[in-house]
Amino acid sequence: MDISRQSIMQLQCTKPDKVKVLKEEINVFSWKDLLYYFPYRYTDRSKIHKISEIDGRSMPFIQLKGKIFRYEYLGEGKSRRLSAVFDDGTGVIELIWFRSLTWITKMYKLGREYILFGKPSTFRLSTPSGSSLERISIIHPELEEENKFYEGVIGIQGEYSTTEKMKKVSLHSRTIKQMIIEILENIKEPLSETLSREIINEYKLISLDEAIRNIHFPKSNDLLQEAQYRLKFEELFYLQLSILSAAKHREKHIDGFRFKEIGENFYFLKNNLPFELTTAQKRVVNEIWKNMNTGKQMNRLLQGDVGSGKTLIALLSILLATDNGFQGAIMVPTEVLAIQHYETISRMLNGSAIKVSLLTGSTKNKLREEMLPKVKSGEIQILIGTHALIEDSVEFNNLGLVVVDEQHRFGVTQRAKLWNKNSNPPHVLVMTATPIPRTLAMTIYGDLDVSIIDELPPGRKPVDTYHRYDEKRDKIYEYVRKEIQKGKQVYIVYPLIEENEKIDLTNLQDGFQAVSKVFPEYNICMVHGQMKPEEKKQEMQKFLSGEAQIMVATTVIEVGIDVRNASVMIIKNAERFGLSQLHQLRGRVGRSTEQAVCILMTNHELSEDARKRITIMTNFNNGFIIAEEDLKLRGPGSLNGIKQSGFDSNLKIARLSQDGDILDYTRNLARRILDDDPNLEKPQNILLKQHLNKWNIENKAEWLSIS
Ligand code: ADP
Ligand code: MG
Repeated sequence: MDISRQSIMQLQCTKPDKVKVLKEEINVFSWKDLLYYFPYRYTDRSKIHKISEIDGRSMPFIQLKGKIFRYEYLGEGKSRRLSAVFDDGTGVIELIWFRSLTWITKMYKLGREYILFGKPSTFRLSTPSGSSLERISIIHPELEEENKFYEGVIGIQGEYSTTEKMKKVSLHSRTIKQMIIEILENIKEPLSETLSREIINEYKLISLDEAIRNIHFPKSNDLLQEAQYRLKFEELFYLQLSILSAAKHREKHIDGFRFKEIGENFYFLKNNLPFELTTAQKRVVNEIWKNMNTGKQMNRLLQGDVGSGKTLIALLSILLATDNGFQGAIMVPTEVLAIQHYETISRMLNGSAIKVSLLTGSTKNKLREEMLPKVKSGEIQILIGTHALIEDSVEFNNLGLVVVDEQHRFGVTQRAKLWNKNSNPPHVLVMTATPIPRTLAMTIYGDLDVSIIDELPPGRKPVDTYHRYDEKRDKIYEYVRKEIQKGKQVYIVYPLIEENEKIDLTNLQDGFQAVSKVFPEYNICMVHGQMKPEEKKQEMQKFLSGEAQIMVATTVIEVGIDVRNASVMIIKNAERFGLSQLHQLRGRVGRSTEQAVCILMTNHELSEDARKRITIMTNFNNGFIIAEEDLKLRGPGSLNGIKQSGFDSNLKIARLSQDGDILDYTRNLARRILDDDPNLEKPQNILLKQHLNKWNIENKAEWLSIS
């Protein structure tokens, strides 16, 4: 039976409305789709806990057996809630609901025995006498009647994530489980294998059939782990096979543009620089030039710490393209950065014949209409911009090189589109300040070469970094005033984290007011993400020109901003930032030979992790070390950009950010197989070829086009 051809419509427990929603929401249509819709978490329901043993601070989800013996409504308006007392004979615990209050009281009868499932949390209550009291409660517990419960709901239970729309048509985790049971009951034969016998034996994997059954209904913890391993292995193996075979194909069939000449514009820039290139910069420019002169398409990652001078490398590389009659483009993640690059680069090329333009989402229609034909004709040689560059309406005459700065903010599909701007793909240079492991880089960016700038321009002093509590505010402002009197500029950064956008924005605006009051004698500008682009540009300009001495901003200034005269950075609520973010932010100062200072401000209540992050920042300046520390602190999930890159969300079970080992194994395996049999024609590889083709079709839009 081909499970990818069996529709879930045929299942008894599905109705047409559900089928439609499954397709729309989670792209599930066939039996196979659903069998590959894996639980997002598991809970061990084999143990019943006692209330007397509960430790409210460290317990994960637990299971209790007992009775509810009182309901009580508490609070008013938004904080109105239902509270109940749950008793298991060893003690009592409070249950709390904030939603469906009446329904709950009808549904769960007093005095009846229930199995309860939930996560205990602790509240500290202050008593009138001033001492404090701890109360343990469970918010929104799941309750099941004992009888019902024991039918198959014991042991390790998988839970499936569902969206709001799914819940509306009663598609809950439980419903999905039901459908999977029905599918598995209907499949009489073991599921047919997707990996060859050789691979299964060599890596000691369990069969697909066993893996699928155990991923949904684990017979034991060990089997669950083996199932997860096997399915991650399969997924990453086909991913690697796909990327590598596409890379092989490209190498063989696609010619890269050849940039033979080093021409006048390159020399114009190089000879007019107010400084010498560092040895590392020279080496990297050479690597890039050699690469673009081989006849192979370049796909290169440039890593260099903040402030190491990557922009200049980008520009020199692009001039190699223009000197050979091609166009170049620079794509950056934010409008603020695009504007800045545009201005810096225009200034550097002032006096040359090169035409540069800026294109962002907020470029006025009239301007766009004038600009786009010139991009198409080749009159505009360098185009700098944001996502707007990859819109279909932007056509180039002969795009020779694309530089992607601070790449990690770009999604997969966006990158794919850029690749397709020419019949022959342009050379690609990706620049990042965040070091990432090699295999991971290769997976995310396709097969690529790596250049590293391991040197900062001469005379740079490490930024002096301090941690200060909020009550030292006045002293800090005093210091700021002194620095401004010396002619320096200052950043004051506020957190803006999506979940709290509104509150944060208010904080920022309040902060702006407060700072304005403290420094009535100075000009203060403000930049944040929700501003109108025109306004953003004006405010940026005030700081760039030196008209404003202080910039109050959110993390929009995190990437790339380069104002050399700014030498002080104050970061408010520093505990709310991640390490790499703090490092990027701090990289905005210390861009000249002047001593720069960064002050991390927090209140006294710091979590242990936050305290560690701050200590790391005050102790280290080197981005590679900070990235390593970050890894230790948070695990590889912290690798900046993997989440944003959208790769993990295209995977069903593996996580690039966590499964580095499997990623390495599968990469080596795929490479070994393809080196031996590039077209997968040998008998032992026939199965792999079939599945690769299927995999490519299923994943085409997401992965293939980028590698
Ligand atoms: P990043 O690698 O963080 O993108 P930038 O390209 O913004 O760094 O460069 C940081 C600053 O260093 C800029 O002001 C730039 O002009 C300056 N810079 C770049 N290369 C050199 C050099 N070789 N010597 C002195 N200053 C340099
Ligand atoms: Mg930069």
